[in-house]
Amino acid sequence: MKRAIFPGSFDPITLGHYDIIKRGVTLFDEVIVAIGVNADKNYMFSLEERKQFIEEAFANEPKIKVVIYKGLTVDFCKEIGVEFILRGLRNPADFEFEKAIAHTNRDLAPIETVFLLTSADTSYIASSIVRDVIRHHGDYTKLVPKSVKIK
Ligand code: ADP
Repeated sequence: MKRAIFPGSFDPITLGHYDIIKRGVTLFDEVIVAIGVNADKNYMFSLEERKQFIEEAFANEPKIKVVIYKGLTVDFCKEIGVEFILRGLRNPADFEFEKAIAHTNRDLAPIETVFLLTSADTSYIASSIVRDVIRHHGDYTKLVPKSVKIK
């Protein structure tokens, strides 16, 4: 069984993430969306809210799981026996950043990173932009799955 994890902070999940995850399930038997906990980061949404947004977005997708993890992504992959890391690429900046991480991960463990190129209509979306739109009371609903709701 081929399983991949899709790691990130998903603060909040966007239609860009959604697109990569949906396309990921056409390649893998299971895609595990893994929310990484970073104690140094200030998040807009709590861990529970971020998890719930993703679970709700994929409620009808038995091949998609959502988990929370701490520490190195490769250590978590080893712990749960996953051999692939799924990542999305939007632009050259993503490529340079992702290349360094993927090479480092390959040094640390025999885990392959698989990249999917963003879809044209979601390539400009980033969680940081969504947070800015939310902060300034803009219409964020075009950028995120319907499950993302502001209290
Ligand atoms: P975080 O959730 O920590 O902000 P990222 O936004 O970097 O993490 O997202 C995690 C993964 O999702 C990365 O591989 C990133 O390239 C990918 N991703 C983010 N936004 C998009 C998008 N609009 N299209 C495709 N991939 C994306």
